[in-house]
Amino acid sequence: MAGEKKTKIVKTIKVDADKCNGCRACEVICSAFHAAPKYSSNNPARSRIRVVREPLRDIYVPIYAGEYTPAECMGRDKYVIDGKEYEECAFCRASCPSRDLFKEPDSGLPVKCDMCEGEEEPLCVKWCLVDALTYEEREEEVEDDEKPENMEIGLESLANKYGLDKIIDAVARMSLQNKG
Ligand code: SF4
Ligand code: SF4
Repeated sequence: MAGEKKTKIVKTIKVDADKCNGCRACEVICSAFHAAPKYSSNNPARSRIRVVREPLRDIYVPIYAGEYTPAECMGRDKYVIDGKEYEECAFCRASCPSRDLFKEPDSGLPVKCDMCEGEEEPLCVKWCLVDALTYEEREEEVEDDEKPENMEIGLESLANKYGLDKIIDAVARMSLQNKG
């Protein structure tokens, strides 16, 4: 029936940048978990969480990867918090053309946090010994209409950017790696 209410679970990671010490354990475990085969290697460049680090200014901001966007934003914001000025893109979770963050280094394809699908708790949260990362779940009501799934939106933007053939090649490669 149109307009019927359904609920969905919204998963978030609350970030307390004040507690982060820049150890990068979150980057290591995330990239290891997503390596193919799992835990066969670790490379922070493949991680879905990255830590913006400026040790001389005591700035450490863990950011976990959000949506891919094909366009850079036109206006950007500067934040000053507790007297520290943060880079314009410091708090942004997007995989976007203006920076290298959240792109698979070999293919350049965007990566996105999947909350460590299949695990009880996100691994970055588990490995952060100073509790800079906290996992939270809440239930939200959603309209039961025919919106396209997130995956379809993602695939469409990837196809626009890289062409369908490249996407199909990448999927075929991933499926071979997972079998191996
Ligand atoms: S594991 Fe925690 S303290 Fe270490 S870099 Fe990541 S968020 Fe920061
Ligand atoms: S929740 Fe999992 S996939 Fe997401 S950033 Fe943390 S370790 Fe990576």
